[in-house]
Amino acid sequence: MTAGRRLTKLLVANRGEIAIRVMRTARQMGIATVAVYSDADAEAPHVRFADEAVRIGPPPARESYLVIANLLEAARITGADAIHPGYGFLSENAAFAEAVADAGLVFVGPPAAVIRALGSKQAAKRLAEQVGVPIVPGYHGDDQHTEARDGRDGLAARARALGFPVLVKASAGGGGRGMRVVRGEAELVEALERARGEALSAFGDDTLLLERYVERPRHIEIQILGDTHGNVVHLYERECSIQRRHQKIVEEAPSVALDARLRTAMGEAAVALGRAVGYVGAGTVEFIVDSRDPAGAFYFLEVNTRLQVEHPVTEAITGLDLVREQLRIARGEPLGYASAPAPRGWAIEVRLCAEDTDREYLPTTGTLHAVDLSDTVRADLGVTAGSEIGIHYDSMLGKVIAHAPTRAEAAQVLGRALELAWLPGVITNRELLARILAHPAFLAGELHTHFLDQHAGELAAPQPGLDRLRVAAMAATLAAIERRRAPHAFAPPGWRNVRSADQACVYHLGDRELQLAYRPAGDGFELAIGGKTIPVTGVTLVGDRVTWTEYGAHRRAARVIANGGRHFVLADGALVVLVEAPRFPDHAHEAVKGGLVAPMPGKVVKVLVTEGQHVAAGTALVVLEAMKMEHTVRAADAGTVQALHVAVGDQVDADRLLAVVT
Ligand code: ADP
Ligand code: ADP
Ligand code: MG
Repeated sequence: MTAGRRLTKLLVANRGEIAIRVMRTARQMGIATVAVYSDADAEAPHVRFADEAVRIGPPPARESYLVIANLLEAARITGADAIHPGYGFLSENAAFAEAVADAGLVFVGPPAAVIRALGSKQAAKRLAEQVGVPIVPGYHGDDQHTEARDGRDGLAARARALGFPVLVKASAGGGGRGMRVVRGEAELVEALERARGEALSAFGDDTLLLERYVERPRHIEIQILGDTHGNVVHLYERECSIQRRHQKIVEEAPSVALDARLRTAMGEAAVALGRAVGYVGAGTVEFIVDSRDPAGAFYFLEVNTRLQVEHPVTEAITGLDLVREQLRIARGEPLGYASAPAPRGWAIEVRLCAEDTDREYLPTTGTLHAVDLSDTVRADLGVTAGSEIGIHYDSMLGKVIAHAPTRAEAAQVLGRALELAWLPGVITNRELLARILAHPAFLAGELHTHFLDQHAGELAAPQPGLDRLRVAAMAATLAAIERRRAPHAFAPPGWRNVRSADQACVYHLGDRELQLAYRPAGDGFELAIGGKTIPVTGVTLVGDRVTWTEYGAHRRAARVIANGGRHFVLADGALVVLVEAPRFPDHAHEAVKGGLVAPMPGKVVKVLVTEGQHVAAGTALVVLEAMKMEHTVRAADAGTVQALHVAVGDQVDADRLLAVVT
């Protein structure tokens, strides 16, 4: 126990938004802050935020953020007396907690023994069973062979006994990875074998467990806090049912799914589990609730022995700062309350990710040219204008949180903030998140973990209408004209004189083409686009905000950034990227016939075919990995692999030619 210990300097063994979030509270408590960084993060916002920062290695996490010795050395160099692990990385690694304690430093989290007791899903489920917390029916024992062996039944027989569908999980899994649904006998044996292999390569532990697959669960979790004096309290629930790939993207507190009885029962179950292990610090007990079960049965899933990504919604409704509570507990202070403050209002969080929601949520990369969010919301971001979004780390850029008296208002405030969020340069899930928050089923509270699939049709990105494109093209053009008026400005490359006084420009948006011509008229312009001629006056450009008046009456506004012939325009809640057509088209980059290109930048982890091999349409050719996700490139048509341009281990850019199938 570390009763009454004074903390003066905190090292945060993490990056991005969570590193900044932790340091912000430390700073408020008068504690000095130390950041660590890989070479990819030398100029990152978390490094600039900290009082001091130490380089811990090259970009891959395995060689930097996951190297315990380097982190301890950084603490030694700077004289830090405590280490906060954030989430992900080493936050649930018992060996790290132990090494920190052995070095005489305070680990801001539970003791290694508690992490160990709860770290594997197998151990945690056994413990839950002992304490009488309901668990998903399944198998979480030592019988790990697929088929019967040494007088034991084997996992295949146990899965059959449970009944299909069955969920096979890696006991050491996390972040939504290491799970596989088995719908019938035909897939069973192969699924077990593959799950075991994947678990070993992803988590270094091939222990599997089986669970009955609940078809339409709601994910509901309870925040707990424990101090070093034996007190454990819960801070109510969060619902995190909106998920893609078993990973949360929208979270809220409280949950519409709980009535007073269920809230009490789940809170008590979480606290009982915490007491049983002597929980210290902040933790989350995760459950699923069967959305189709009128009795509202709930089942324990796992405990996350750390601060959770979605902790801000709990902070909003309780008024507590959870990092402050973690640091107070780490100093040995008693919690000082026997139950949580009464909850106030409703809070909703969304995870802003660099991903393409129209392309299976593939991670995206690039430079963020600007970052600006409305001051009506809390924005915990790990990026700033100029940030390079690379392939080495998680695709989450940060979180946006709204808090309001009612759920409907919180959803509206957050949705509007997302519409106005200015993040040009990198494709994000911003618009999908805004559409979720406005969806009638979301507003009715009809949530479950397959919400995105169920409503995929209505949630798909609409084709931008002509009016929206017209406004975007006008904004881009007017901003360019204003910029050109400034000293040293240059003429946009795509512009040409068409008649003596007229200038024209062609913009591309995907395969659509927009022509716009303009000429000075009176004290403004006439813009001709889409068969209309629009008189424009009162054009102003302040920073990236352009405003103008159409027809002498309607004042409009947009934000515009131009970069290398691309115009990023945010108007009416949509970000439109217009590519200015060059005057002299470049034929050098025309696609190779039958060529398969990388859909994202990444590392080649598997090459599954050889040159000369005949392949069917849909055959997997190459597997790429980026930001902890794998993506398989498949043959579009049947044919012969004419050429393979990559090998395992190669780092490739987006659109790089991988293979040619003819
Ligand atoms: P939460 O409930 O807080 O979302 P997750 O299990 O989804 O918990 O993980 C939290 C964060 O940690 C996410 O950004 C996730 O991608 C990351 N993460 C989870 N597991 C791992 C892992 N094994 N290695 C690295 N990062 C991980
Ligand atoms: P992780 O460690 O990756 O967070 P969890 O066990 O917490 O793994 O599960 C993550 C998500 O997977 C849950 O929120 C839920 O959407 C889904 N899931 C987990 N177990 C089940 C189950 N038995 N039936 C249906 N869905 C499940
Ligand atoms: Mg989980």
